[in-house]
This record gives sequence, C-alpha cells and structure tokens, in this order.
Amino acid sequence: MGNNNFLEIIFLPAHKLNNLIQEKKLKVSEIAKCYFDAIEKSQQKLNLYITICKEQGLNFAKILDESPDYLDDLSNIKPFFGIPIAIKDNICTKGITTTCASKILQNYIPIYNATVIERLNAQSYILTGKANMDEFAMGSSNENSFFGPVKNPWDINCVPGGSSGGPAAIIASGAAACALGSDTGGSIRQPASLCGVVGLKPTYGLVSRYGLVAFASSLDQIGPITRDVKDAARLLNVIAGWDENDSTSINLKMPDYEEFLKDDIKNFKIGIVKELMVKEVAPEVRESINKVVSLAEQMGAYVEEISLPSLEYALSVYYIIAPSEASSNLSRYDGVRYGFRNTSAKTLREMYKKTRAGGFGDEVKRRIMIGTYCLSSGYYDAYYEKAQRVRTKIINDFKSAFKKYDILISPTSPTTAFKMGEKLDNPLMMYLSDICTIPANLAGIPAISIPAGLSKSGLPIGLQIIADSLREDNVFRAAYSLEKAIGFSKNPIGLYE
Ligand code: GLN
Repeated sequence: MGNNNFLEIIFLPAHKLNNLIQEKKLKVSEIAKCYFDAIEKSQQKLNLYITICKEQGLNFAKILDESPDYLDDLSNIKPFFGIPIAIKDNICTKGITTTCASKILQNYIPIYNATVIERLNAQSYILTGKANMDEFAMGSSNENSFFGPVKNPWDINCVPGGSSGGPAAIIASGAAACALGSDTGGSIRQPASLCGVVGLKPTYGLVSRYGLVAFASSLDQIGPITRDVKDAARLLNVIAGWDENDSTSINLKMPDYEEFLKDDIKNFKIGIVKELMVKEVAPEVRESINKVVSLAEQMGAYVEEISLPSLEYALSVYYIIAPSEASSNLSRYDGVRYGFRNTSAKTLREMYKKTRAGGFGDEVKRRIMIGTYCLSSGYYDAYYEKAQRVRTKIINDFKSAFKKYDILISPTSPTTAFKMGEKLDNPLMMYLSDICTIPANLAGIPAISIPAGLSKSGLPIGLQIIADSLREDNVFRAAYSLEKAIGFSKNPIGLYE
C-alpha cells in the first residue's frame, strides 16, 4: 500500500471505515495494519501511548477477518466492529497495565474491565493501546505524565492540552480512529480543541464510570474523542446507559444520538456567554468564534450575548472542590493495596510516607495538599462548603439561561496550544486554561468542542457548545450543523513526510 493510501485510511472517521468494511473494500486487518504503522511512526515523535497493544490488536484483527459476523451478514456489522480505538490510561482494562500516568500505578494490572470497555468489547473493537495523559488526569498540558510529555502533532514544540493530551493527539495524528477520554474540568474538550478534533463531555451520570480511576467523583465523566461529530454520537450510543455498578449512573431509556445529527439550526436560540469571553481569550480565538456566530446567524439561528454572573467564580470553586475530592480519592494509594511500594521503610508509617512521597508527582501532591487543607476542620466551612454554595449558584444560572436558550457557545480554550514548558512553573496560569470548560463540569451539563479553524501559525482553535442537562440532542444538532458550515478538514500530515 502506498503512502497516499495509508494517509487516506488513517485520517478517516470510524463511520467511513465501517462503510469500507461493510462494502468489503478493506479488511479489518488491513485497517489495523495502517493504524499500527501510524502508531509506530508517530509514537517516537509525540509519545502518544503508554502501552501499545500491537500484537494483540493485529491478531484480533485477523480473527475478525475470519469471523462469521464479517463473512455472512454484512448489514449486521456493529458500528465499531474492527475499529482501532485508543483508551486513556485511567480506564481499567483487564490484564493490561492501567497506570494513570503515575509511578504509583506503574505496574497496576486491573483484574476487571471498566463498563465502557465491556461495551466496546461487545462491538468487537480493536484496542490500539493505553493513551498517555497527565498524572491522575491533573493538568492541562500533558506535561505531568510520569512517562514524559505528549507533543502536539500540529507543532511538536507545543503542548497537546490535557489531561487527555494522549487521546486527542492520537486522533489528530491518525494513530487510532477514535478514543475515550475523561473530563473532570475540561480534560476531553481542551485537548480536543488544541489538537483540532472533536471531544464530548456528556451529562454527568450518562456514561458509567465503573472502572474509571477516580479523580473528583462529583465531576468526572468519560466521553468520546473523535474525528467528527457523527463518530462522537455513535460512540456515545455505545458507552451511554445505566450501569448498576455506578451509583451515579442515570437510569433512563437512551435515545439514538445519531438521530440528532440534523443539518438545521433554524430558529435555534444561542447565547454567547460573556463571562467565558474573558480578557484572556486571544484575539484570533475571538475572531474565529465570531465567524462561527455569523455562520449560525446565516443559518437562521438567533444569537445574543448573555451574562451568567456566577461563572466568574467557577475556576476558584473548581480548584477547591476538585482537589478536596481528589485528596480523599487518592488516600487509597498507600503502598498496601495498589502499585508502587517503598521497600526501604522500617515502619508502616514510614512506608506510607515514603511510598506517597516517592510515588506521586508534584502536581498530584499539590492537589492533595490543597484538598486536605480545604477539608480540614476549621477551614471546611470557609472553603469547601462555601464553594459548594457557589456551585449551586452556577447550576441555577445555567438553569435560567436554558429557559431561554437552546445552546450556549464559547471558545473551548482561551488560547491555541501553548509552548511546552511555558506554564509549568506557574500553576495559576495553567489552571486558567480551563476557564471556559470548568463551568459545564460544575453544573453536570453536556458540552462539546469542535474545530473552528486554524490560527495564522497553523494551530487549531476550538468552539465549545454547551446545552442543558440531558440535552445532548441540542449539542449534536448544533455541533453537526456548525461542523458542516465550518468545513474544517485539515490534518497534520507533515508528521508522516
Ligand atoms: N485541567 C483540569 C485539572 O487539572 C481538568 C482536568 C480534568 O478534566 N481531568 O484539574
């Protein structure tokens, strides 16, 4: 197969690969070979994966080539049959190391699959590997990985965003057709934006988190990172739905999300959130969002600016609530039950201390300290409880906005991808990259990032679409229509030259 053909295949969305498999134009094993070749070529440059499942993937592809599903009834093939999918390394995969990009879980091999993995298995998907990420999903640049940073495929001197920097950079480089990430404060959407791909954080509780290593349990959600909106809807169809193993999972009949992919936003009411168009938003990003607004208006939508005053406090609220929950969730890593243990300690107490001091990276330790402080008696009321009250205000502000508007839009990230190292010594600047994404997590509502274009220096810009709780229908309809109108179709092919 020539280089042209290879490039055509690895940059196809999963639904097109599915058509080619159904039409018997490509075998599953041919597709798998292209993707594992792409992984080999991009891995060295970008450090995308922590674990690559090449042998297992190619073997399984051969089995699928021969399977009755494929040979007998083509119309019955499931949407992700034989599709190469990357999984963020904080989602448990039975028998395959799940490190959370941390030294403390470096050798942790789960004995069970996360529910989302079981659901993908039922589709006969191909696991390409476990994607690199910020340690315990804490970060916005993927520079906090014990396994080294991920680089942005559009410019290797820039970060891919985080914490799902691996999954997003993988999709942008064609090193898998789809990926699953997790989003606690923007970790799916912000890297999707910085890498020029689609990333969806579903409504809190829509996708089971059984088997997702917990960061901040009232905020965490698993979601798809894909090449286009249609793939995001298809992947959500597979992973959404009630799960008795997750007490926060919503027990409702799930719609077919693909049905909402309509190119029509006539009479849609769109609010541009003033508080998310902050001064930190770069002029080019602002310009790009304004262009999308004009497109929406041309398509018959009503657009106006709205104010949600409580959003001004969202970042502060998040950086109290998320570390507080993290400090509690991460107390389980004590060297007794999971992963790394310091063996030089003489006493149990010393073992705990040395294991945690040596096993966690700096950012994780910072969060544990902030969280422990906010939850300690005497400070709980002043910080944690107050943050919870403001969180309620944020929820209520969104509720009243959605009485009037179908969707809200904003930039996904105030800037395009920044240079590696640029914000490493300044946590506050790093935290500011989440300013536009965090509010949706605090309110538990769905939000998607889609590519809105490229900056002058050739870096992707992302548009965020937010809707009310369980109104993924509005998210998909708007995202699908605007994706068509924007017509973004570039890939960082320079990687393979
Ligand atoms: N960047 C944010 C943080 O560091 C969000 C992380 C996430 O969504 N997992 O907390």
